[in-house]
Amino acid sequence: MLDIKITRTTTPKAKPEKGAPLGFGKIFTDHMFVMDYTEGLGWHDPRVVPFHNLSISPACMVFHYGQEMFEGLKAYVGVDGKIYMFRPDMNAKRTNKTNRRLCIPELPEEDFVQAIQAVVTVDKDWIPADPGTSLYIRPFIIATDEYLGVKPSDTYKFMVILSPSGAYYASGINPVGIWIEDEYVRAVKGGMGFAKTGGNYACSLAGQVKAHDDGYSQVLWLDGVERKYIEEVGAMNIFFKIDGKIVTPELSGSILPGVTRDSVINLCKSWGMEVEERRISIDEVAEAHKNGKLEEVFGTGTAAVISPVGKLRWKDDVMVINNDKIGEVSQKIYDTVTGIQLGKLEDKFGWRFLVCEK
Ligand SMILES: *Cc1c(COP(=O)(O)O)cnc(C)c1O
Repeated sequence: MLDIKITRTTTPKAKPEKGAPLGFGKIFTDHMFVMDYTEGLGWHDPRVVPFHNLSISPACMVFHYGQEMFEGLKAYVGVDGKIYMFRPDMNAKRTNKTNRRLCIPELPEEDFVQAIQAVVTVDKDWIPADPGTSLYIRPFIIATDEYLGVKPSDTYKFMVILSPSGAYYASGINPVGIWIEDEYVRAVKGGMGFAKTGGNYACSLAGQVKAHDDGYSQVLWLDGVERKYIEEVGAMNIFFKIDGKIVTPELSGSILPGVTRDSVINLCKSWGMEVEERRISIDEVAEAHKNGKLEEVFGTGTAAVISPVGKLRWKDDVMVINNDKIGEVSQKIYDTVTGIQLGKLEDKFGWRFLVCEK
């Protein structure tokens, strides 16, 4: 158990008005969580403090060699008016997988969850309640040694900031167009593709810019060696429904193990569907499309839950999926996950986590 010191702001900011468009990741609440790490001392001084700018040396290692990690999850108001999160234990476990890869000290899972719970509870009045809105939670760790040599830092800061965010699907669930990238790659086995870290995103920007310039909203990455097997989309894992079966790339070390991905696999299996986690080539997808067997394609991630894919652009070909409409299984998964999150549906898997009573 952390002994978290709480210092409340004396100058609270104006909260967005009910119904005001929030967007994503642009507004921040009144408080943040901070905890320091010092080699020999471990993690220390856990505290909730007013949201503030940091004052750190420009020589901090995070600025030069990118030793950092982050997580992303949400808190929302359930139908009973209480505040919930979805499977935060999974984010805590993934944090340590990321940390091990990046030589960042591990964080006890229960401390990770407790830290988030503490700051969300202090800022609970910031959680928007309009349908589909939520409080996006961004935990992250940065390396803070003042040093330009290359080595793991001896000091770190773990912080959690909170951002009230709008409904992802304010105007209905519209399928997205996806660009299959054939020039750049995101990650390779043995690299850090499975870790949630800024470097993977820095590496993805050039592909994303290309896709945007062509009118596609996101990039689908192929494997970095053969440029043949499907990996994942920008910040989402990817699923295909081919001839009645659900197929998704296996966790090979180069893709991010999404909490939503795991939830979708569990749900589909519980409905008696066949789910295959395996290698899937772009040729297999194109072939299935040609034969009319590519029934649905969707991305999965915390922000959108499900993002149906209506168009897949591969070289000079554009595959249109399910007439550019959301598919039946995609819709059912979306309704079920959001239903469990809000407490409209029974939580058979024990995925809901109570943060605080309103
Ligand atoms: C966070 C992330 C995902 C989705 O993970 P969830 O836990 O479902 O939100 C997928 N791919 C990448 C690259 C990510 O960073």
